[in-house]
Amino acid sequence: MAKRFACQICRKLPMKPVCAEDGFFYHEECIRRKFEEVDKNGVVISPANRLPMGRGLIPAITIRSLIEKIVAEGKVEKKWSGDSDDHVVINEDDEFLIEEAEDGDPKSMTILGRWCLFGEKLGVEHNVKKGYKLIEEAAKLGNNHALGYKGFCLIHGLGVEIDRDDGHEDLVIAANKGASEYSTS
Ligand SMILES: [Zn+2]
Repeated sequence: MAKRFACQICRKLPMKPVCAEDGFFYHEECIRRKFEEVDKNGVVISPANRLPMGRGLIPAITIRSLIEKIVAEGKVEKKWSGDSDDHVVINEDDEFLIEEAEDGDPKSMTILGRWCLFGEKLGVEHNVKKGYKLIEEAAKLGNNHALGYKGFCLIHGLGVEIDRDDGHEDLVIAANKGASEYSTS
């Protein structure tokens, strides 16, 4: 429920959400920073659906009261980060996983990498470059799922320059390894 209202950039729950022209919710400062990344005449690409979008923002008042209700009911863990009013949903298992990833555990790095790549985890920044780095490192450490994701990233240019040949190579190796892992012979 709360996930739908999370800022599409930092994945935290904005207490004063704005609705952008792509129809998604953001912290005003997050989306304005995104606008500043492109020059005045440049086309802004929606961080949520990857389509060109205008720069209009409106306060999402109805959503704001819904978010206040979710927070008041304790459905999200309160986590005050510095002087911001962000609410983050991170449970203890997820925190443990993030620590393990930082300690270099390939499996945890692969999961954290996926969260960063696809912005699918509340409280974990949607950051494709960081995601790719984690995946690449985990693949180097021999994680086969990571190798598959790395191939996907290379083919689609997600967090890395497009390199279809290398991407396909990774996917083929990952698929072959996966097949032998499940082999009963
Ligand atoms: Zn944000």
